Amino acid sequence: MSLIVAKFGGTSVADYPAMSRCADIILANPDTRLVVVSASSGVTNLLVELTQEQTCDERRMQLIKKIAHIQYQILDALGSPQEVAARLDTVLSRISSLSEELSRNRNKATMDELLAQGEQCSSALFAAVLREKGEAASAFDVRQVMRTDSHFGRAEPQIEQVAQLAAKHLAPLLSSQRIVTQGFIGGDENGSTTTLGRGGSDYSAALLAEALKATAVEIWTDVAGIYTTDPRLAPKASPIAEISFNEAAEMATFGAKVLHPATILPAVRQKIQVFVGSSREPERGGTWIRHQVEDEPVYRAVAVRRDQTLLNLHSLQMLHAQGFLAETFATLARHKISVDLITTSEVNVSLTLDKTGSDSAGNGLLSEALLQELSQHCRVRVEDDLALVAIVGNKIASTPGVCRRVFEVLEPHNVRMICQGASPHNLCVLVSESEAAQVVSALHKNLFEQ
Ligand code: ASP
Ligand code: MG
Repeated sequence: MSLIVAKFGGTSVADYPAMSRCADIILANPDTRLVVVSASSGVTNLLVELTQEQTCDERRMQLIKKIAHIQYQILDALGSPQEVAARLDTVLSRISSLSEELSRNRNKATMDELLAQGEQCSSALFAAVLREKGEAASAFDVRQVMRTDSHFGRAEPQIEQVAQLAAKHLAPLLSSQRIVTQGFIGGDENGSTTTLGRGGSDYSAALLAEALKATAVEIWTDVAGIYTTDPRLAPKASPIAEISFNEAAEMATFGAKVLHPATILPAVRQKIQVFVGSSREPERGGTWIRHQVEDEPVYRAVAVRRDQTLLNLHSLQMLHAQGFLAETFATLARHKISVDLITTSEVNVSLTLDKTGSDSAGNGLLSEALLQELSQHCRVRVEDDLALVAIVGNKIASTPGVCRRVFEVLEPHNVRMICQGASPHNLCVLVSESEAAQVVSALHKNLFEQ
């Protein structure tokens, strides 16, 4: 049997008409048995604000009202079926009590519990939309199967346990009805709610697809797939029909926030193909990310990742010494920092970190404790407001002339860091945030519009 997991992002479940379009996409394919939803657009941001210390009581009331308004509008359009109305009432009063609890006692477990409520609302509503169209469908609490560790705000899924729990609790339900479940959230072994970090619903969908050995994951968003670059930066950007896992991995954030970077990990492990398309215009098709692709061009795309932090570490201990890098990376790992790019000289090492991967409540990555620990064995310098521009493709490191074509357009810009050679699939440059748009459009012109 072929099984498809379809994930719908915040804008795809923003309101009733959007949900209704998504339901039609699902109904058009009898193999789409499991549906993973994000919170309705804007709701997670409102919840994040609710978790923040500086939010006063009056503002909290406003925020809760805004969330209620978004959700009850969908309920109204559905004709307020009783069981869904009751469910929404429960979730909304839970939001009030959790936010009150947080204002008295701030702790990460309660924050995650609160952040998880957006997906609770959207999944209950979405299942009702499917039922309204005459389909057997129920909402399923993903915390029964999405087992994670207890790192609140950015919990790590426990792959094997997720597979076992999904086989036991979720798989048997799929033959008789469509199941709608929550992205972004999970539960630890004590039954506490956890979250996977902002934008984590794509990752949830891929993890569930892996657990259930699905044939494909569809990520339905508001753009018709992956483009050669962000069309807002280069109007001549064109859609990519097919891209390999290797190239996609090097793109990481897929330009305009198309896909959460971790999404393809489970897909690669199980060779599950991933589709990205627009739920607003499904007829336009989208991009398939696959293990093997027919066409392997040198240049596939120019991707940009904003909000990069550069961490520069300087130490004479590095000179003819051993173990300095091991110690540095061990410290970063203890603080759960994921490093992206690295360059080194004799006595310096530079690392880039991605702020968009920060935890669900939006806390910064570099804590005082971490900086202190690092300063004990080297001089630390932090630079912000940087953007990483990646030229993604094939045989980049072994095709003569690539560097010339890339660097000729970079001439007027200050390049802060270059990474080339580690992968045949990419070449990255770090530039200041304010120049990123120009760099991307110039590169796109030179590599794709000649
Ligand atoms: N609702 C969560 C967020 O806004 C997760 C997601 O949309 O993927 O970050
Ligand atoms: Mg998203």
